[in-house]
Amino acid sequence: MNIIIFGPPGVGKGTQANRLKERYNLLHLSTGDALRGEVKKGTELGLKAKEAMDKGRLVSDDIVVGIVVNAIGNVEDANGVMLDGFPRNISQAVTLDKVMEEKDLKIDYVISLEADRDIILKRLSGRRSCKDCGKDYNIFFSPPKVEGKCDECDGEIIGRSDDTEEVHLDRLKVYENQTESLKSYYREKGLLYKIDGMATVNEVFTNINKVLDGK
Ligand code: AMP
Repeated sequence: MNIIIFGPPGVGKGTQANRLKERYNLLHLSTGDALRGEVKKGTELGLKAKEAMDKGRLVSDDIVVGIVVNAIGNVEDANGVMLDGFPRNISQAVTLDKVMEEKDLKIDYVISLEADRDIILKRLSGRRSCKDCGKDYNIFFSPPKVEGKCDECDGEIIGRSDDTEEVHLDRLKVYENQTESLKSYYREKGLLYKIDGMATVNEVFTNINKVLDGK
C-alpha cells in the first residue's frame, strides 16, 4: 500500500505520519525532513535548498524528485511508502506517477487533512521539536510535560528556522497557489479522501484508519 498524506503546512501531517508508519509498516518519506537533514549535514544539496526553505518557498523540483526517487527504490521490508510533503505541485505529481509506473507501483490513497486557516496559523506558530531526538511538540496543542524539555530524552525544545510569522504566511500562500490544486488531480483519479484535521490527534488517526482499512 502506497499513500500520500496531504494538507497545508501545520495541519498535523507529521504527527499522523509517525503513527501511520507504525501501524501499517510504511516507509515514511518526508521531503521536508530529508531536506532539513541535508541542510544540517551541510551537503551541496542542502546548501541549494536552504534559501528557498528559509523563505517558505518550494525547493526546485529536480532536488526534491531526486530524494523521492532514491527512497521509493528503497522500501525493503516495509509494506509500502507514505509520502509526506510530496508532491507539492502538478509537475511533481506527474513525475511521481511516471516513477511509480516504471517500478510497477501505484498510489492507493491520498489522505487530505483539512483545517481552517486560523487554526493552521496557530498550529504553525506553536510548533516545536526536540533538538536531540526530533520528537514533535506544539506549545498550544501538545506541549511537553516540563516547559522547554523533551519528555523522552530531556533534550532542549526548539523551533524550526522557518517558523516565523512571515514565513508561515508565505508557506500558506505557496500551498494555496501551487499545492492545493492537487486535490482535484487526485479526486479525478478517485484517490482523494478528505479527513477533518481539526479533530483531536486520536480522532484524526481513527478516521484515517477507517479509510485505509476499508478498501
Ligand atoms: P515541510 O517540512 O514539509 O513543511 O517542508 C519544509 C520546506 O522544505 C518547505 O517549505 C519547502 O521549502 C521544502 N520542501 C519540502 N517538500 C518539498 C517539495 N515536495 N517540493 C519543494 N519543496 C519542498
